[in-house]
Amino acid sequence: AQTKYAAIRNEPATTLDGVTVGMQMNAGLMVDLPSLETSGAEGVGLFRTELQFLMRNAVPKRDELAALYSRVMDAAGDKRVTFRTLDIGSDKVLSYMKNINEPNPAMGWRAIRMGLDKPGVMKMQLQALLRGAKGRPMNIMFPFIAQYSEFLDSRAMLEAVVESEKKLGHAVPSELKVGAMLETPSLAFAPDQFFETCDFISIGGNDLKQFFYAADRENERVRSRYDTLNVSFLSFIELIAERCKSFDTPVSFCGEDAGKPVEALCFAAMGLRNLSMRPASIGPVKHMLRKANLAEAKQVIDTARGSGAQSVRKDLMDWLKNRG
Ligand code: PEP
Ligand code: MG
Repeated sequence: AQTKYAAIRNEPATTLDGVTVGMQMNAGLMVDLPSLETSGAEGVGLFRTELQFLMRNAVPKRDELAALYSRVMDAAGDKRVTFRTLDIGSDKVLSYMKNINEPNPAMGWRAIRMGLDKPGVMKMQLQALLRGAKGRPMNIMFPFIAQYSEFLDSRAMLEAVVESEKKLGHAVPSELKVGAMLETPSLAFAPDQFFETCDFISIGGNDLKQFFYAADRENERVRSRYDTLNVSFLSFIELIAERCKSFDTPVSFCGEDAGKPVEALCFAAMGLRNLSMRPASIGPVKHMLRKANLAEAKQVIDTARGSGAQSVRKDLMDWLKNRG
């Protein structure tokens, strides 16, 4: 299997009917970076910055973070890195953070909500990201944006840090794209202006699915009831893809499901043209896409949706088997 994937490492994920899907990888540590080369990923679609905060027993220093972000970008070379700002709270608890003891941490004070309410750490991190770039182009995205104003406020904070960096005589990225993670259903229904303003959107499918079904992603008992290929969820992904397309807003999917070949095929059939996944999944997903006719897959999904089936999985698997 390894060689099968190695042979297509530098080939595009183009379906039989000519649709190309961008393949990016998720990362969070320096040791992940060599996978950019070995997996054939086109870039880092999600760099989870919280790991450096989770591994310490105090908030990391700005210079230390800047040095790390710089090394990440050195290792990525010409491939673009999308850094996600600190995403803590809920399942990611810092040992040195005051215990906030909330009844529902997943729906509590987490991610960008913390960053906006207590901006000290977020500003420090933004400064570290900009300094790490040393003038190179970069993407920055904010986690868990649930409404348009949170995106505007986050972006304004970033812009203020860019201005202060310039005043201090530091280089700023030659191109800075600013995006939002779509992880709550609410953001899919944000005003048009959100989609016009945002440089790109990344669907955080792990959280999005948890909130779509109201099923805790950490609770196997309830999580396993709800299939990602359930017609409701796929139709929701399609709605997001169409809304983004109507505003020419680039959109990708970076949750774990992007790394599952059948799920990835369905996301592509729903209109997504960019996926970000763990490096080891790139080969299998690319192999699936390159052997599939996307219009036919869409037809199978639409027929299943029309039949009242709860999930398209069975029909799709039958189709894949018959196709050989
Ligand atoms: C997600 O929610 O899908 C995501 C990519 O972020 P995380 O898994 O880190 O919450
Ligand atoms: Mg998430």
